[in-house]
Amino acid sequence: MFLPTTENDMRQLGWEQCDVIIVTGDSYIDSPTIGAAVIGKWLQRHGFHVGIIAQPDVHSDADIARLGEPALFWGVTGGSVDSMVANYTALKKRRRIDDYTPGAKNDRRPDRAVIIYANLIRRAFRNTVPIVLGGIEASLRRIAHYDFWSDRVRRSILFDAKADLLVYGMGEKAILEVARRLRDGSAREDIRGTCRITKEPVSDSIELPDYDRVATDKKAFIASYRLFHENNDPLTARGLCQKHGDRWLVQNPPAPYLSTAEMDDLYSLEYELEAHPHYARQGAIRALDTIRFSITTHRGCYGDCNFCAITAHQGRTIQSRSAESIIAEARRMTRHPAFKGIISDVGGPTANMYGFDCARKAAKGACTDKRCLAFHSCRILNPDHSQQIDLLTQLRKLDGVKKVFVSSGVRYDLILMDEKYGDAYLQELVYHVSGQLKVAPEHSEEHVLKLMGKPGIRSLLEFKKRFDLKSKRAGKKQFLTYYLIAAHPGCTARDMVRLKQHVSRELKIRPEQVQIFTPTPGTWASVMYHTETDPFSGEKIFVEKDPLRKERQKRIVTG
Ligand code: SF4
Repeated sequence: MFLPTTENDMRQLGWEQCDVIIVTGDSYIDSPTIGAAVIGKWLQRHGFHVGIIAQPDVHSDADIARLGEPALFWGVTGGSVDSMVANYTALKKRRRIDDYTPGAKNDRRPDRAVIIYANLIRRAFRNTVPIVLGGIEASLRRIAHYDFWSDRVRRSILFDAKADLLVYGMGEKAILEVARRLRDGSAREDIRGTCRITKEPVSDSIELPDYDRVATDKKAFIASYRLFHENNDPLTARGLCQKHGDRWLVQNPPAPYLSTAEMDDLYSLEYELEAHPHYARQGAIRALDTIRFSITTHRGCYGDCNFCAITAHQGRTIQSRSAESIIAEARRMTRHPAFKGIISDVGGPTANMYGFDCARKAAKGACTDKRCLAFHSCRILNPDHSQQIDLLTQLRKLDGVKKVFVSSGVRYDLILMDEKYGDAYLQELVYHVSGQLKVAPEHSEEHVLKLMGKPGIRSLLEFKKRFDLKSKRAGKKQFLTYYLIAAHPGCTARDMVRLKQHVSRELKIRPEQVQIFTPTPGTWASVMYHTETDPFSGEKIFVEKDPLRKERQKRIVTG
């Protein structure tokens, strides 16, 4: 059942008022891969009445007012992607296409959607109930951060949105606690996984350098980001605070991760796996093709690539669902009228991290002085693909399932590290590839790979050899496709020439898919981009900032 989107829907449910109204920058797709739908159904499962307003018209009050005012709070999210990333290319050109909008036309999601929606609510409902921000845009902009699109350090988004609270990371636990406390009228200052604005700093929290300082002093900016990055694990993190003018941004420690039982509970909720029927005449929503019959097996990633914000949002600890829960979801899919027997993806941020993690993390949290896989792999990490092999085997034997694909990226270095099950996993993987398996070496040059936090090229070549051999033995014509990045901090045009030589000689390909690096909030690479410094060594690095030369870097490989 869809969450109500109109007064009529509410009336049919016998509700006079919603407790919570979620406003989102995506169209409403009822799927466990869409944050607004997940949070809405999760709150509903715990007894709250939740409505949803998707992609409201920001030029009038008609859309935002269509469910009335909620009894407890407004939840505001920019959607599945930061609105500036959704609206602009890496060269800051306006995108024409939005995969989360019906008809794919990029005309519904405003720039800085979180701020615009919060203002829209305040304009339509003066002195309204609290506005609570969440989702990727709010989460990664929760402290002072570098904003590529305005090329400056911006304040915490809480100040610009004039909102009451911000839920960061994967927000189920925090948002449920917010809802309960607002319902009960109890204090909400200590809710883990939230940020708020105060007049004074909070004792026991770590003080980040002031906003005014980080906006002008690049060393202070690096120091601030380091503290932010180090205090992101629920087991070890302390609270943070950062002065903005005469007020303080206060970040409570992160909410605990969901346990396997809690993940199973969350993913047992029923979803329509459809876009809301309201969009029927407005054209297809492209994202639906990708997400509709895909299954999320876990959250978190310890790859810790410096250009990726997953770690800041989902954490470095793998939070896996049980195989039973995943199989049950697959069975539900087989009963969907549009299901044709193909599960398009079984994975997570990195597909082959399902089911295992370093034992130290569960007891003591992720190391702050070491990284798990960045360039060199930690010896304590003990990869074990056995659970994934079992899972994939069970899924492809289900009645009604013809094919199960692993379309999420895999870390090939993990497969090579797993002496016991790596080979068997690769053998299994060969049967779960839709013609091509995506891997992400990103570059070939060692100094660039180190700045990216990626493994060296030797492991890729070894993996390719094994994958090609197994595919051949299985009689399958399939190949690897490679994600590559141009203009990452530290990368020069000469590095791209060497990358071109490498992919031609060693991989025997002429890549067409090369992305130009985008500095997004919440990553070490955007710190490098802004400060032109390697934050780990303190040395100055080359950073290509000219759009034409960025484009030229890309063309060296694709041209
Ligand atoms: S011990 Fe190694 S694998 Fe475990 S958290 Fe630390 S760096 Fe990561």
